Amino acid sequence: MRLILMGLPGAGKGTQAEKINEKYGIPHISTGDMFRLAIKEGTPLGKEAQSFMDNGELVPDSVTNGIVEERLAKDDCEEGYLLDGFPRTIPQAEALEDITNKLDRKLDYVIHVDVPEEKLLERLTGRRVCPTCGTSYHVIYNPPKVDGVCDKDGSALIQRDDDTAETVQKRLDVNVAQAQPLLDFYEEKGILITVDGDQAIDKVFEDIQAQLDK
Ligand code: ADP
Ligand code: ADP
Repeated sequence: MRLILMGLPGAGKGTQAEKINEKYGIPHISTGDMFRLAIKEGTPLGKEAQSFMDNGELVPDSVTNGIVEERLAKDDCEEGYLLDGFPRTIPQAEALEDITNKLDRKLDYVIHVDVPEEKLLERLTGRRVCPTCGTSYHVIYNPPKVDGVCDKDGSALIQRDDDTAETVQKRLDVNVAQAQPLLDFYEEKGILITVDGDQAIDKVFEDIQAQLDK
């Protein structure tokens, strides 16, 4: 299965991606995670991405499209893939079409996790992530078993640099402006699935499965 998970920052893409990955066994490809790893490792890609991410802006397409093409060409994407956080603009969606045509790995569905914008500020400022495995938690809605500690590997949880109130609002503004044209783009192709993301985490996943297993 070849999928895109779409939704505003904080909609629950990463949370659902982990569940989809567990059930369907397809690799979870998050451009945000790739950039964060590159920053942590101090690679040239990380240096290029950092200032954009710190300001809540999009990393330029010339950089982003290239890393996606490289990643989708890998052997583990032969049976499918789950893109999270890409594409975020129409030019990126067009680039993705070229890439997937070239690789003969065309999209099956686009899953839109729909959450009202006013809910997202609280989700993002309450988010805590594991710096080792990337799992995301929420201080109220999805707390770890032990406060501040990852359930999976025991690492101390951190807050992402861009999950502070000022940067969050900027990211929401940037992404809201881009979101609707992208949804229209996939709706016109007849591959858009919309699920209500403003429900408990497990219920959202049930709705995604029901659509995919149809
Ligand atoms: P995204 O990848 O779309 O930015 P995340 O999956 O990281 O979003 O989720 C953002 C925050 O909201 C996290 O703290 C996560 O634990 C929490 N969260 C995710 N899904 C839900 C949900 N259905 N209800 C309440 N909180 C949620
Ligand atoms: P969220 O969905 O919570 O905003 P992501 O991890 O997807 O978080 O993205 C974090 C940041 O990484 C974005 O604010 C942006 O700077 C950069 N980024 C991620 N994906 C893309 C993309 N497709 N195009 C441009 N920049 C991106």
